[in-house]
Amino acid sequence: MKYKDKKKVLVIGSLNVDMVTNVDHTPVAGETILGDKLDLIPGGKGANQACAAGRLGADVTMFGALGDDQYAMISKKSLIDSGINVSYLIKKKHTGTGVALITVDKEGDNSIVVIPGANAKLSMEDIDRNIVLIEQSDIVVFQLEIPVETVLYAARKAKELNKLVILDPAPAPPEFPMELYRYVDVIKPNETELGILAKTENVLENLYEATELLKDYGVKHVIVTLGNKGVYVNSFSQGIEQIPSYEVQVVDTTAAGDSFTASLALMLAEGKELMEAVRYANLVAAIVVTRKGAQSSIPSVDEVREYEG
Ligand code: ATP
Repeated sequence: MKYKDKKKVLVIGSLNVDMVTNVDHTPVAGETILGDKLDLIPGGKGANQACAAGRLGADVTMFGALGDDQYAMISKKSLIDSGINVSYLIKKKHTGTGVALITVDKEGDNSIVVIPGANAKLSMEDIDRNIVLIEQSDIVVFQLEIPVETVLYAARKAKELNKLVILDPAPAPPEFPMELYRYVDVIKPNETELGILAKTENVLENLYEATELLKDYGVKHVIVTLGNKGVYVNSFSQGIEQIPSYEVQVVDTTAAGDSFTASLALMLAEGKELMEAVRYANLVAAIVVTRKGAQSSIPSVDEVREYEG
């Protein structure tokens, strides 16, 4: 498909820099330990999803807020390298870029402190001032690492303008605004997030009831990612289907969910049917879990084609 024929994807969300060090064990209160070295890695769910969609060939614009510090460029450069339009990113004065402080212990377990910085300041006024972005896009993708009221406002605008709205409800807030469901065409929780949104325990045994509830609230298609158990789809038009995951050698599951959402957006932008989009996302995410890192683990279009064989 030619670039100019593709629908335009707008990602509205977070941009972070992950500061990662490897440690022997996670320090307890009052303890000082040594890390091996410091890696500065671009992250944030919004930026990860924009990068993934861009690398897989979508026409993507990223909208979000960076700080006025040296970390902003790390985030921006990675987006530029993935072919994303970054010309509308906002720089918040006297504010830091979003940062995640991550220690990884020798068992591979993470401990993370997130400092939202500029992400927390992305406001409804910022959306209004840049409404042209929503007007000019076809598909708008959200996550919940920016203020939920900003997401609600922008999603309402997107729906008023007849755009397709995709929501990756991560991290799931304890209080989710009910009105938001009405503006969402596709929601993609993982099983934990679905449990929080539907206030359901044992979500795996209640997938039908929990996803029906989100449809009752107004969402059209509910797509639940279930890690190595694959994907559960409950769609108002395509029915219900559970698709198994690919059997792969798992190295690192970071960004599996983000690349899944990005692939969905890409395929829907190319005019594909929902179920075809889900199958493609399932494949891309399976490739991602065989590689280390977040944005670094996302395959190119050609690499996905090789796996499709
Ligand atoms: P993350 O927060 O790590 O980005 P997530 O919790 O949002 O991920 P998951 O449900 O863990 O999302 O995984 C998303 C998708 O990635 C799954 O639906 C599946 O397609 C793929 N996937 C994840 N883990 C595996 C696995 N072990 N084997 C094959 N595919 C996997």
